[in-house]
Amino acid sequence: SKLNIGFIGLGNMGGPMAANLIKAGHTVSVFDLNQNTVNELKSKGANAAADATQCANNVDILISMLPAGKHVKALYLGENGLINSLSKTTLVIDCSTIDAESARVVGKELAQQGISFVDAPVSGGVAGATAGTLTFIVGGDKAAFDKANAVLVDMGKNIFHAGDIGAGQVAKICNNMLLSILMAGTSEALQMGINNGLDPKVLSDIMTASSGRNWTLELYNPCPGVMESAPASNEYKPGFMVDLMAKDLGLAMEAAKQSKSATPMGSMANDLYATLQHQGAGTEDFSAIFKLFSK
Ligand code: NAD
Repeated sequence: SKLNIGFIGLGNMGGPMAANLIKAGHTVSVFDLNQNTVNELKSKGANAAADATQCANNVDILISMLPAGKHVKALYLGENGLINSLSKTTLVIDCSTIDAESARVVGKELAQQGISFVDAPVSGGVAGATAGTLTFIVGGDKAAFDKANAVLVDMGKNIFHAGDIGAGQVAKICNNMLLSILMAGTSEALQMGINNGLDPKVLSDIMTASSGRNWTLELYNPCPGVMESAPASNEYKPGFMVDLMAKDLGLAMEAAKQSKSATPMGSMANDLYATLQHQGAGTEDFSAIFKLFSK
């Protein structure tokens, strides 16, 4: 059925996600601090809200897609927080990748006002957001999950119920820690091949059909010129920013410490991404890690 949806946070991911909700026939009101992104969505049929409160007013579903936990906490619980104005019939879906604790705090506070909440971080990148093929990893109770599922299908292909509130975030950072390791490993292997005289395209084809195959080789090759659609071939324009991957690795290291988990590969990736940030590449795509290995 067609719903009234509010969407806050129209960046690299949120923009195309909101556009898919419009395409599916929902009535979508949007807000972002960056007016350019609001105007772009307006041109695609969204209603531009003047602020977050107006965006969230009287909607069936409110979706947020913000950078980090502090932004999400401020939006819902801060000064003029939405907790004061949201209707009890609105389901809140936060799709940002944030620390599980912040998700639990927001969920608990909203629940005290009778408002349902799920955390629903995504995987699949900007390409997946645009194509409507994202994976959603949802944490929350069954009733809220079922309600969320009905709208997430308009933006994604695979929708998982990971467990209670916060569980979506835990699964997401496990995935992104592995992704960072695969991106770093793929980059060093490609560079070693180049250093030994191989054509990176030929080597990529070989490894994609061999046991080194992984998502970065298949869809997101980090070597410029190998894959036309990949950020590497577009001067590492994001895509998924180094700063955001570094944020996720910080969350992973925190979770590892709290649970006494051994994560030597994740720690190495965390160090490599911090190095990349230190070199000034924070706003480049995370595949720019390839440059750490190049001549
Ligand atoms: P982005 O920086 O492109 O977009 C974030 C948007 O939020 C910006 O437009 C910003 O203006 C807006 N914003 C910040 N604070 C706000 C507020 N208080 N009110 C309204 N708008 C506000 O980031 P992104 O790449 O779209 O990522 C968003 C989230 O999704 C992050 O948590 C990221 O880790 C996660 N994620 C990103 C990707 C990817 O490939 N880019 C993939 C999966 C998950």
